[in-house]
Amino acid sequence: MAIEDHKDVWVFAEQRGGELSRASLQLLGKGRELADTLGQRLCAVLLGDGLGDLSRQLIAHGADIVYAGENPKLKNFQTDSYAYVISKLIEKYRPNIMLYGATHIGRDLAPRIAQRVYVGLTADCTGLDIDPDTGNLLQTRPAFGGNLMATIKTPNHRPVMSTVRPGVMKALPADPERTGEIIPMDADVPDGVMVTRLIEIVKEAKHAVNLEEAEIIVSGGRGVGSPEGFKVVSDLADALNGVLGASRATVDLGWIDQTHQVGQTGKTVTPKLYIACGISGAIQHRAGMQNSDYIVAINKDPDAPIFGIAHFGIIGDLHEIVPLLTAELNKLRRPAA
Ligand code: FAD
Repeated sequence: MAIEDHKDVWVFAEQRGGELSRASLQLLGKGRELADTLGQRLCAVLLGDGLGDLSRQLIAHGADIVYAGENPKLKNFQTDSYAYVISKLIEKYRPNIMLYGATHIGRDLAPRIAQRVYVGLTADCTGLDIDPDTGNLLQTRPAFGGNLMATIKTPNHRPVMSTVRPGVMKALPADPERTGEIIPMDADVPDGVMVTRLIEIVKEAKHAVNLEEAEIIVSGGRGVGSPEGFKVVSDLADALNGVLGASRATVDLGWIDQTHQVGQTGKTVTPKLYIACGISGAIQHRAGMQNSDYIVAINKDPDAPIFGIAHFGIIGDLHEIVPLLTAELNKLRRPAA
């Protein structure tokens, strides 16, 4: 099949319990840009059982077409059924580009599909663009332990498939007036496809650290001084109804769990407010948070690089400043009777 016969930019629309993931909406935002540059359509692939108005939401966020597959066997994500149905759809419609969030689901699903449709996969991309000369997708991702950024081209095979880091791309605002087409797809999963059986979904007991979806993040760095030193930072996060983040140095020291890590080898975040407490602002940390709307840095070193990207900077000891901020916020939240 000639490369020219492959058209359109596809996004795998991840949903759980009837809710679209933010990563999928962010991919639609980027996908829209790529599709417009190529003069092709942006299509979303949505699977589940009882999809409600999710297809409409995808159109409102930029999709021209939604391939919607409903089947009780697709209610919850399972690699076998999802990979089977999507591979068939790819063989039928032959997309040019197919994007997945580099989420737990996307990282599981994308390689299985790549193997089935016999193409490669560029994992964990942080940048996507179109080569103006060839129309090829340029897929940028950290390489060699994050020490350099590599741009990968796939000139000879289609679809070009990538997983993309959540939080790096921006979702478009929903436009309920946007129009698009919803195409019901063949969502049949024949007997024998499923080699695993879902018995029960047990939600993780521990409090999930949802940095990627957080609107406010308060992060601590080596400047907190000790595991106990994180208390002042987490108190401020609580006072702001925010989520607790951390630098890698504190994770490596064993002061806090890796699920809190922000940065190149942690989570990429785009909150409305990011408060960095005792974080120097190394390039690998900035790579994960520099697209935050507002950045506040608290650091006792006036030359700390974090001040270079901060919108507001406070020079001083975080152990003095952060509790003052928390106390003021708590006063605002609970005014004296
Ligand atoms: P430091 O650099 O030691 O900074 C501590 C800061 O706290 C200093 O600026 C100091 O002035 C200030 N301070 C000290 N005491 C106080 C006080 N009482 N009050 C106020 N300020 C105070 N790092 C990440 O964060 N995320 C990543 O994902 C990541 N990935 C990496 C990947 C690779 C391949 C490599 C090589 C490195 C990576 N790093 C990452 C590590 C990164 O290079 C830095 O080492 C790390 O971010 C430093 O963490 P820090 O800012 O907490 O510590």
